[in-house]
Amino acid sequence: MELYDFIVRHSTLSSLIYKRTVTIIVITISILLIDLLVLGWRRSSLKIIFSFRKSSQSDMILFLLSLTKVYYFLEIVFSFGFVYVFVHYTPHNESRHYDLFDVHTLLNVLITFTVTDFLRYWYHRLFHKVDILWQLHAYHHSAEELNVLAFYRHHFLEATCSRLLSYIPILLIGNSAYTIFPIWVAMYSIELMQHSSITSDWGLVGKYVLISPAVHRIHHSKCKQDFDKNFGQIFIFWDKLFGTYAAPDSRQIDVGLTDNKFNRNGFLADVFLVFTNFTNQLRKVIKH
Ligand SMILES: [Zn+2]
Ligand SMILES: [Zn+2]
Repeated sequence: MELYDFIVRHSTLSSLIYKRTVTIIVITISILLIDLLVLGWRRSSLKIIFSFRKSSQSDMILFLLSLTKVYYFLEIVFSFGFVYVFVHYTPHNESRHYDLFDVHTLLNVLITFTVTDFLRYWYHRLFHKVDILWQLHAYHHSAEELNVLAFYRHHFLEATCSRLLSYIPILLIGNSAYTIFPIWVAMYSIELMQHSSITSDWGLVGKYVLISPAVHRIHHSKCKQDFDKNFGQIFIFWDKLFGTYAAPDSRQIDVGLTDNKFNRNGFLADVFLVFTNFTNQLRKVIKH
């Protein structure tokens, strides 16, 4: 009953945002430990992180920032208050009455999860296709080595856009996978795994159901043939359905940007660089 109460208490949108810090720390440390146990120290994410190279330094800073409300504050400012309005005025939903044994609820959760993932596939594709959005998302791709903490590598302007987009499922179907605590934990863990140093393709699960680390690594590839592939976040079938799937092979994947101007002058310089790239692009769009 206590676990049930815990899930219910943590299933509302606002509590996910305010009381998620402990969960984030626990999941992140667990995935880092799995990565270490599977690969050993020499090939682990922890070794990359503690190399303190500029790229992994930024990942570490962004992880620490994710535990604070700094990003949330910036998201409110740069969305002109919209994020605050959505978080505080979105009505709580049926996850409050979450019952694992109720078929109707389970079906609802499945639909919510699928719709959310479908929309996230398209947001991600949009961030690659539209120049002005790419200026924000390029920062995620500027990671020179994938490690568990590279998952946190998102500029606060991109986080603001993503936060606003994450409300679309709520507007469409009255719910979002982010508002259901166990689903949010599962999504979060899978996405941390995808950025780990483990390059597994997860066998049949990775082939037919979930995006494996090997598939997401191709998305981060510097190689031209891999550009605009594997946009999916959790389920693999969107990429297969919309023709953007690239299957993992035996190649060694070199990750990063072909012309990487990041990771030279430190975290703050990179944050500023994204901001100037974005505003320059915005000016171009306005002039046209
Ligand atoms: Zn991407
Ligand atoms: Zn990624």
